[in-house]
Amino acid sequence: ELREPDALDDIDAARSPWADHRWQAGPVLAAEVTGGEAHEVRNPARPDDVVGQVVQANEADLGAALAAAAPWTESAAQRAAVLNRAADLYEANFGEIFALLAREAGKGLPDAVAELREAVDFLRYYAARGEELADAAPWGVFTCISPWNFPLAIFTGQISAALAAGNAVLAKPAEATGLIAHRAVELLHQAGVPRHALQLVPGAGRKVGVALTGDARVGGVCFTGSTATAQAIHRAMAPVLRPDAPLIAETGGLNAMIVDSTALPEQAVKDIVISAFQSAGQRCSALRVLYVQKDIADSFTEMLLGAMDELRLGDPWRISTDIGPVIDADAKAKIDAHVAAAKAEGRLVHQVAAPRTGTFVGPAVIRVSGIGDLAEEIFGPVLHLATYRAEDLDRVVDAINASGFGLTFGMHSRIDDRVDQVTRRLKVGNLYINRNQIGAIVGSQPFGGEGLSGTGPKAGGPNYVPRFTRRPLPGHA
Ligand code: NAD
Repeated sequence: ELREPDALDDIDAARSPWADHRWQAGPVLAAEVTGGEAHEVRNPARPDDVVGQVVQANEADLGAALAAAAPWTESAAQRAAVLNRAADLYEANFGEIFALLAREAGKGLPDAVAELREAVDFLRYYAARGEELADAAPWGVFTCISPWNFPLAIFTGQISAALAAGNAVLAKPAEATGLIAHRAVELLHQAGVPRHALQLVPGAGRKVGVALTGDARVGGVCFTGSTATAQAIHRAMAPVLRPDAPLIAETGGLNAMIVDSTALPEQAVKDIVISAFQSAGQRCSALRVLYVQKDIADSFTEMLLGAMDELRLGDPWRISTDIGPVIDADAKAKIDAHVAAAKAEGRLVHQVAAPRTGTFVGPAVIRVSGIGDLAEEIFGPVLHLATYRAEDLDRVVDAINASGFGLTFGMHSRIDDRVDQVTRRLKVGNLYINRNQIGAIVGSQPFGGEGLSGTGPKAGGPNYVPRFTRRPLPGHA
């Protein structure tokens, strides 16, 4: 169990030893580190707060990491015991992990608690799945490339699945969240993962990421991030001619929700606010396009805008904050430009005011005619609003399928047949009916997308760890 009361104490800046701590991170190799340039990390909510620095891996470090990587040959049971010990260490260090998630990634306490829980669940669940596969051979060396938006949970999930199956891991964290990745790797090593089986190689995607995916010594790649990057990795893997090398990719989405005239409006509004704006909309599962049945659109929109105005934006370090900053100035500029373009065209319905210092974006609603108006995923607190007539429901489903993405979909309706009519035809990985559109539960509600949203198998499901092994030939253990 997590010690949440301690976490509440830790959030009090005056008492937390981590409130002004500066972390030092860099490559962690099974060989000597040379180290390239150092990147300073600043708190996205408070730009004057220097959180630490991350030394990037240079060419020599990349070569050394690839040369030193060697599979983890202890028994599956021993590996599982080590991963379970790592889960205990994560929990024991929650105060520090919360401070890192808040100050490096802009996450508030509820998000941080959920993220720690997911990371710990991945460690324990994949450890158990690895034990069941004791006879399967690992691929060898796996490169794991992760995004910044779940810098602990996704980072840990990828690595622990690869390790549970006995692979060596080269972990390439997102540029924006190198400190938390470094701390996680320290805890995994402290738990007993050997250095040759887990190395951390921080640096730019275009440099380190490319080098660690297009090398013949790498047996497989596990990637979570944008669809465009997954496609680039696929191309990078092609010239080394390993047709069987797996690319496990979880990518972006253009997630929709339908609210029909039978929905309970209070519940639907509450769920939409969480789905579109929690974590400042920086979740791959977040709601991007809301279709409201025309008959109720005016009153429903008014209620939604009212609920948005209650949201408190601010420093995630404070317990009263609902919505923190977006990850960095580049992300803010991209989202702001999207909102400004909509405003210029008279399509901005509403935007909540945001703090001026820090990279905050006020939650916004933009009118669209449908999902087809969106060229790409906007990774921030922006909800696109469309209306539809009851007789056009099938056309809405066609439009959602035509986007090519298939990550999450939500529906609020009290007519079961109508929900069936829609969900039967939709090509999406995760459905959320009469509830908010976020969340996965390791072991019971696995997460993954279809089409442009991912390759499968679903993370947190029974088929995930087996994908990190070569299937043993019949009669050969
Ligand atoms: P991103 O694709 O920009 O970066 C992800 C990682 O890939 C980073 O570590 C980056 O350094 C690396 N990278 C970039 N270019 C590379 C290249 N050419 N070769 C190898 N590696 C490279 O994504 P992001 O901005 O960090 O994360 C946001 C995206 O992630 C969104 O699209 C979101 O939907 C998606 N996401 C999906 C899921 C899911 O489960 N489907 C979960 C979280 C995030």
